[in-house]
Amino acid sequence: MTDIALHIENLSFAYGATKALDRVGFNVRCGECTILLGPNGAGKSTLFSLITRLYDAREGRIELCGFDIKRQSLKALANLGVVFQQTTLDPDLSVTQNLRYHAALHGMGRKAADLRIREELERLHMFERRGEKVRQLNGGHKRRVEIARALLHNPRLLLLDEPTVGLDVPSRQAIVEHVHDLVKQQNLAVLWATHLIDEIAGQDSLIVLHKGQVKAEGKLADVLQATGCSDAGQVFQKFTQGGGQP
Ligand code: ADP
Ligand code: MG
Repeated sequence: MTDIALHIENLSFAYGATKALDRVGFNVRCGECTILLGPNGAGKSTLFSLITRLYDAREGRIELCGFDIKRQSLKALANLGVVFQQTTLDPDLSVTQNLRYHAALHGMGRKAADLRIREELERLHMFERRGEKVRQLNGGHKRRVEIARALLHNPRLLLLDEPTVGLDVPSRQAIVEHVHDLVKQQNLAVLWATHLIDEIAGQDSLIVLHKGQVKAEGKLADVLQATGCSDAGQVFQKFTQGGGQP
């Protein structure tokens, strides 16, 4: 069994005349957190829309755990958990109801679902809040519920699209730590889209995306060595000229 959870090859996509992705290719491995770093408009969310099959690319190839997402969609997508840039929880349902709904969509029985819901909520210190309506939760707690939901069906790959934007510092740190723990403990593969360089940890892999093109990729240490930069901030500046960085 391959340790490559996500394989992308020669992927291009345009919105009419606007080219959003231009011959993008890279791998995301199990047991690694891969940071997809790029300013606003780089193409990060478009890439996620293609991986999740919201959009269809005419050019290029995407494989999840060795399954082609077009030809073997069900097998491929069963390996995928997603937290989208905009929250997709139902605010009028409780935490548990939101999670049960997702579990049902993945064909999980009620008993198995409730076990997994308890496991993931406890891991995120959210089990006590399970009966509350989502609209009563703050932004950080909503994000935790979304991460728990994305993991319920035990995916091999977790996609996170700017999961900490708009959160306070402690909530951001909690999510960064939680995701890195998951990567280590569960051998999970993570692709984390962000424009915030302080979310990159020393052992992460990095893909720098700018104007739809991959500008640099590899283990952070290797990228630093290859580019002669001293930190991820310099790498970001070098390839994006600070465009989009607040
Ligand atoms: P990011 O998530 O990195 O901020 P996006 O994938 O949202 O980048 O956007 C990439 C490019 O595609 C930008 O130029 C953006 O304006 C354009 N774009 C994104 N969504 C649409 C859309 N629905 N229609 C037209 N253009 C879009
Ligand atoms: Mg985006």
